[in-house]
Amino acid sequence: MHFQWTSLALVAAAALQATTSQALPTNMISCLQAIKGKSYLITPSSSNYTKESLTENYLFNYKPQAIFHPATNNDVSAAIKCASAANVAIAPRSGGHSFEGYSAGGQDGSLIIDLNQFNQFSIDKKTNIATIGGGNRLGPTYAKLWANGQYLIPAGTCPTVGIGGHALGGGVGMTSRKYGVLSDNIVSMTVVDPSGAIKTASATENTDLYWALRGAGGGSFGVVTEFRIQAYKPPSKVTSMTLDFPLSKYSTILDAYAAFGATASEDLMAEMNLDTSGNMQVQVVYLGSKADANKAVAPLLKATGKPKSSDIREGKWIDAAVRFAWMQNSDLANPKAGDSNYAKGRSLVYRQALNKKEKDIIYKYLTAPPKGISAAYLIVDLWGGKINRPASESAFVHHGAVIGIEFVTEWGDAGTKPGKKACGPCQTWSLNFYKEMLAAYTKGQPIQAYQNYIDKDLPNSMDAYYGKALPRLKTIKKSVDPNNVFRFPQSIPLN
Ligand SMILES: Cc1cc2nc3c(=O)[nH]c(=O)nc-3n(C[C@H](O)[C@H](O)[C@H](O)COP(=O)(O)OP(=O)(O)OC[C@H]3O[C@@H](n4cnc5c(N)ncnc54)[C@H](O)[C@@H]3O)c2cc1C
Repeated sequence: MHFQWTSLALVAAAALQATTSQALPTNMISCLQAIKGKSYLITPSSSNYTKESLTENYLFNYKPQAIFHPATNNDVSAAIKCASAANVAIAPRSGGHSFEGYSAGGQDGSLIIDLNQFNQFSIDKKTNIATIGGGNRLGPTYAKLWANGQYLIPAGTCPTVGIGGHALGGGVGMTSRKYGVLSDNIVSMTVVDPSGAIKTASATENTDLYWALRGAGGGSFGVVTEFRIQAYKPPSKVTSMTLDFPLSKYSTILDAYAAFGATASEDLMAEMNLDTSGNMQVQVVYLGSKADANKAVAPLLKATGKPKSSDIREGKWIDAAVRFAWMQNSDLANPKAGDSNYAKGRSLVYRQALNKKEKDIIYKYLTAPPKGISAAYLIVDLWGGKINRPASESAFVHHGAVIGIEFVTEWGDAGTKPGKKACGPCQTWSLNFYKEMLAAYTKGQPIQAYQNYIDKDLPNSMDAYYGKALPRLKTIKKSVDPNNVFRFPQSIPLN
């Protein structure tokens, strides 16, 4: 529902335009209603409030105080001041794919600042730097990059994921071994900080924020309204392949896969899906011809043996992006990515190949799925390559990892309502599986996990996500957000 201008709002507008020495109204809603222009506000009395409050994952049904859709940086700034004056927690929202529903606050009573109107895009063809509004999603971004000179940015595969949360927490996808994680390709950002100040964060301006936002930026340090990201021109031929193996060969295949990363070409990126159907599928994108791709995977196949089936296709980069987006249509600009569902995702990042115990736990759980799941699978990303050679330091600390694993459990439960957790056995199975993996994690190694697969069940999650970056992150948090306005259950703490 678009906001209707009222006399009450006029009063609040006057307050907003007041100098900083004058207090803003503590009634956040009337303060927000005073923001003019193309912004709009959803409140609990709006007809679409429930729809707007929902996250992509139906596990959650938080009740925000309001959802504000700004149209300009000044709108964002004004909204931050309104929430701050009323001590209401602020949750920025880009694509809404947070695993714990944090862009809906992760708790009741937050103000969601939804960036759906920040979908600007352009590319500078001299520097190959793309300017991408903070509300763009990956699929439409890939489509725009392609339409404007056949560019790519190194980012994830799911087309409905938002650039905001994704880029600020890392961003791993099918060209990461060649170009690094997405956060390492951010050249600069426009950020509206917790005081409402509109800033540029780059290697030369607001350098603390630039460091913190790249890796730990999701929801803790302000609202990033625009990214400037290094884009690349892929070669004219790009090869995609799937290689299927039986899950029963899990031990050999997992060992071969982890070892392969150390010497594999950086033109090659792979992820492996292991699921409860008894299949292990290695998905590969190779930046080059089919003949060269076959040469690049030869060392892997030497160690694994012949796959039971394979499907190798030579095309353009965009064909590979569409293929591994697993959409119900093939339109990256308007992706239809499967119905919203209930899901629990978790992660672990490994600096070495899995040990025997870890591999056996994976096999044990995947061969004994619980009743009620619609899907349960592991995605094992092959790290290394340029991921390990960032151009500058940032709060992303997982450089040097060998593989990253995402553990996913999904269930449908038709008939249940968002917020109803349902399928108890699915959730218990997922948690027990993860607990066993945590217990088997190689002794003496601090547990590492990927913050873009954020998970409340992970003990000491701040250390696992941010490691050695945590003390500096807390110092920066204290300095830019002393009142902790940008807070959610796993935001960067003040202390
Ligand atoms: C189906 C699916 C597929 C995925 N595939 C991949 C993948 O291939 N590779 C990968 O690396 N990750 C992947 N992810 C994880 C994904 O990167 C994270 O969930 C990411 O945080 C989602 O970003 P979002 O903008 O969609 O989410 P949101 O829920 O909007 O945001 C996530 C967090 O970031 C904050 N935030 C969002 N936008 C901003 C902003 N502009 N400024 C400040 N804070 C902001 C939010 O407040 C929230 O805390 C996937 C997730 C899902 C659900």
